[in-house]
Amino acid sequence: MALDLIVKHARLPDGRQDIDIACEGGRIVAVERAITGGAARILDARGRLLAPPFVDPHFHLDATLSMGTPRLNRSGTLLEGIALWGELKPLLTPDAVIERALRYCDLAVSQGLLAIRSHVDVCDDRLVGVEALIEVRRRVSSYLDLQLVAFPQDGYFRSPGAAANLTRALDMGVEVVGGIPHFERSMAEGAASVEALCRIAAERGLQVDMHCDETDDPQSRHIETLAAETHRLGLGGRVTASHLTSMHSMDNYYVSKLLPLMTESGVAAIANPLINIVIQGRHDTYPKRRGMTRVPELRSHGIPVAFGGDCVMDPWYPLGQADMLEVAAMGLHVAQLTGLDDMRWCFEAVTTEAARIIGLEGYGLTVGCHADMVLLQARDPIEAIRLKPPRLAVIRRGKVIAEAAERSSLLAIEGRPARLDPADYAPAAGGD
Ligand SMILES: [Zn+2]
Repeated sequence: MALDLIVKHARLPDGRQDIDIACEGGRIVAVERAITGGAARILDARGRLLAPPFVDPHFHLDATLSMGTPRLNRSGTLLEGIALWGELKPLLTPDAVIERALRYCDLAVSQGLLAIRSHVDVCDDRLVGVEALIEVRRRVSSYLDLQLVAFPQDGYFRSPGAAANLTRALDMGVEVVGGIPHFERSMAEGAASVEALCRIAAERGLQVDMHCDETDDPQSRHIETLAAETHRLGLGGRVTASHLTSMHSMDNYYVSKLLPLMTESGVAAIANPLINIVIQGRHDTYPKRRGMTRVPELRSHGIPVAFGGDCVMDPWYPLGQADMLEVAAMGLHVAQLTGLDDMRWCFEAVTTEAARIIGLEGYGLTVGCHADMVLLQARDPIEAIRLKPPRLAVIRRGKVIAEAAERSSLLAIEGRPARLDPADYAPAAGGD
């Protein structure tokens, strides 16, 4: 029987070399050396890194690629970004949101990013974004897993209609409950919003993913309430706290109490390094805080952590290119994760860890998993983060759905090589 695809001579993220992976019926059917037999397509990895696809566990697909409409964010602050998005919201049409989101998904696929958890703003009585992204989820389903979070951007209590709209969005098929407790009118209302939203998730059997404490305020402690509610309602493993930037500024003694509470509750954390490093600390003079949450400390307490992209060319962030390796590289730098194991973990934070937190089914490079993969022009995960190299092949359900040429330069220097491959510079022991 001919297989759909065999990828030959690959190096896997765990360091195994010269591995072949056979795919049939959209699944991985063999992972071993020297697989024989025919296939509709045979792809020679030539020793390059074959990884499961990138996963973005935190994004805003309703806002992406809207930069400049109706104007630019002059101050660069989170609050001007939210105000700007508020100006844009009444102007949104379903067709325009769908078109922008589909264009972003094209870019994502080309970057080997095949699963996105996107928040969608429900503080618009028309629910234009919800309607549009449900349609996008349907249209991309054959090539990209899109998970939607009902996100009350202007506050679950603070925005009139947000509570009713959130319920409508969940009824329409949005699958995760969002929130933004630090944007409510008071700490008490923020805590009440956490309680109300966790209760909705418990009643409906849904996951929770809140923007939580995305502030430089050391007193913003909604994560404590979120951990306590997760524990009380038995929601461990289904609740994610996104951003947690206030943890950067909290008192160390308080954090020493908070981390074990988070571990006990089973809450997961998502940092968004590109956005945290440009949005946080804006009110500081010098020294300026970095603002990203305490990634090494969360990890050392056994709390699941991943990195998200959050924004690309929208009211909050003018850059980005759907490249989760750029996200991993920024997270590595900001958290000073330069130990070998730490650098390898940064690759997992945008692949396996992110997949685990959003509950992606059939993800990975073992027999029985979906045949979804990305072949990179790099030898190992650390080199991938260093180089952010071309995605030579992006595979979905055993079919190549995107390809890119290798990157190389031609040199015209006497006595030096004529051709340079940037992926040839890996240290001999790199990644082993
Ligand atoms: Zn966000």
